[in-house]
Amino acid sequence: MIDTRTSQAPPAATPEAPLVDNFGREITYLRMSVTDRCDLRCVYCMAEDMTFLPRSEVLSIEELTELGRTFVAMGVRKLRITGGEPLIRKGILTLMQNLGSLQGLDELCLTTNGTHLAQHAGALKEAGVDRINISLDTLKPERFRSLTRFGDLNTVLDGIKAAKAAGFKRIKLNCVALKNRNADEADALVGFALEHGLDISFIEEMPLGAITEHGRAEEFVTSAEVRASIEQCYPLTPSSESSGGPARYWRHAGYDSRIGFISPHSNNFCASCNRVRLTATGRLLLCLGQEHSKDLRAVLRSPGFDSASLQQAIVEAIAIKPKEHTFDLAADAPQIVRFMNTTGG
Ligand code: SAM
Ligand code: SF4
Repeated sequence: MIDTRTSQAPPAATPEAPLVDNFGREITYLRMSVTDRCDLRCVYCMAEDMTFLPRSEVLSIEELTELGRTFVAMGVRKLRITGGEPLIRKGILTLMQNLGSLQGLDELCLTTNGTHLAQHAGALKEAGVDRINISLDTLKPERFRSLTRFGDLNTVLDGIKAAKAAGFKRIKLNCVALKNRNADEADALVGFALEHGLDISFIEEMPLGAITEHGRAEEFVTSAEVRASIEQCYPLTPSSESSGGPARYWRHAGYDSRIGFISPHSNNFCASCNRVRLTATGRLLLCLGQEHSKDLRAVLRSPGFDSASLQQAIVEAIAIKPKEHTFDLAADAPQIVRFMNTTGG
């Protein structure tokens, strides 16, 4: 017999709050990949010779707008545009304007590698983008070139400067920490973030897609190890603040910057997951580390499409959101065959 004194049923989906999954988690955050293409080839994200999708398979700006509008009408309050590299997508500013004007949206965010930010930062701010995350794994030009296979660090540093000048608040740097390739720079990256008034998050590498340049297990370094090395220069105190995501934050006295750690391996955060991801081809992924998904492009492109059928498909998708990811670090082979650039990281 179930003991009703201690068991509490999770909240269920209702017509007013349709995006509640079977574990009582309300989905309020959608990450949308607008392209699988990129001007860099980061070693942990992509193979060197990638084959990209034919353009006809990628959602159009109108389709992306329709999806954003529908999710917001169904209770999503935060949208993050990502990729691939979103700033090389044709029509990106139009998309940002369309999404930036949606009633009911609290935050429109962008994740970018920063290489094209110097040209676009002002226009993105005007279009209604609230927050920007910029990937930065190293401050050494040669190392940047090797981690991205051919990138120029200065383009990213110029992009960061432009984002600050455009008035974006709480710009966040994202750094994927790799034991033998950049973990020794964690303190320098924190110093850079403190000096420039930026937040920074260190991410444990995830086994998405087959890569050749390093063994993922070999390069694995825990958030705790990265934090310990930072603390040799910058003592940190834990902070209870949350950005509604998986990062756990710390602060260094006297500075406004938040120093975050995203630890899919060492700290499983699935119980509070509030997000889903849309690939550039319109596949709605219910979990970063599982293959449960729904093809929303097929719904959008079906003859006689109407928004009720799209809403119904989204409700059905949320019902199959898995309880948790099951990344296994001991296995060096990819557990998920898709790369991060197609996933919408
Ligand atoms: N191109 C943009 C960028 O680099 O910021 C947006 C897309 S990128 C896929 C989004 C984020 O995913 C980046 O911060 C990147 O460092 C991170 N990322 C890529 N592959 C990853 C992996 N295998 N494990 C953990 N993070 C990864
Ligand atoms: Fe491109 Fe971002 Fe992947 Fe690097 S992490 S290859 S910048 S999509």
